[in-house]
Amino acid sequence: MTVVINMREGLDWKKIKIGARFIREGKLVAFPTETVYGLGADALNENAVKRIFKAKGRPPDNPLIIHIAEFEQVYELASEVPEKAKILAEKFWPGPLTIVLPKGDKVPYATTGGLETVAIRMPANEIALGLIKASERPIAAPSANISGKPSPTLAEHVVDDFYGKIECIIDGGETKVGVESTVIDLTTDPPMLLRPGGLPLEEIEAVIGKVEIHPAVKGKPVNLAKAPGMKYKHYAPDAQVIVIEGERERVKEKINELIKRYKAQGMRVGVMATGDFYKADAYFNMGESEEEIARNLFKALRELDKSGVDIILAEGIEERGLGLAVMNRLRKAAGYRVIKV
Ligand code: AMP
Ligand code: MG
Repeated sequence: MTVVINMREGLDWKKIKIGARFIREGKLVAFPTETVYGLGADALNENAVKRIFKAKGRPPDNPLIIHIAEFEQVYELASEVPEKAKILAEKFWPGPLTIVLPKGDKVPYATTGGLETVAIRMPANEIALGLIKASERPIAAPSANISGKPSPTLAEHVVDDFYGKIECIIDGGETKVGVESTVIDLTTDPPMLLRPGGLPLEEIEAVIGKVEIHPAVKGKPVNLAKAPGMKYKHYAPDAQVIVIEGERERVKEKINELIKRYKAQGMRVGVMATGDFYKADAYFNMGESEEEIARNLFKALRELDKSGVDIILAEGIEERGLGLAVMNRLRKAAGYRVIKV
């Protein structure tokens, strides 16, 4: 049985206590953050954390991010807190930045996916912060989607994936950022970007200097014909996604050509656009700015999928600012099926 709590009007202390009680009892509570919805449990309760993996169908070696509400909680979770962590936290917390540090003894390996490191962040969302404070626990929370599916940016998305399977869903309306947090590893020198996200890399480098980019971040764009496999599928709807990257006018031409070609083959075609209009079976305009595109990305994937299309053609954008996070998600959603024009 799932209790759905409406908090679209903002944090309500009476209602948040219902969610907090579930967390303290080792139950699962989905809640909004500024990035996407999280599926939360007491980060220090091994059995509670294991239920997150089970509910999502998440591989046990994929670590969770621990959410905190006060900087001091870092000392309870990490065995070392380097200067750069303090500088980044001071500048960007609460916000869409996750910091990876050496794991403290109290944190179960179930939470860190067996790693000796722990990922921590302070979300910039009053409901999330209220839930953490009211439960008096650090809360481990991956995105609240079935593993492999697009992340949820609306409570409805969480309902679609988890209604009847978790104890509580807190509806805080649409999430502001729309892509998950930026993950940066501070256990290496120089620090390493493990996942691009809601905080642009450029802003981090302006504060702590050069950051290395993990090779997995950009993935390997491969020739479509040579990569029918689904090996890297992630953030993926049921429809096949193809990303078209390049100069704007040529992208537009290519997409129009592909719409015709696939329709001639009897397929239903959807388009994820960044401003331009396309005549297809389904069409979702994510917006023109990086911020709008990031905010609408997962919603576009979920809605086009619901419309029943067989193929989704997506316009690529430049990899600067939030564009790095957007393209990382899009290419994964496409299983790296990218056409460059
Ligand atoms: P999700 O919240 O579903 O986006 O998943 C959390 C992500 O955070 C993981 O997939 C990793 O990319 C990252 N992460 C969490 N903990 C660690 C860690 N200890 N080391 C490296 N990356 C981590
Ligand atoms: Mg996720």
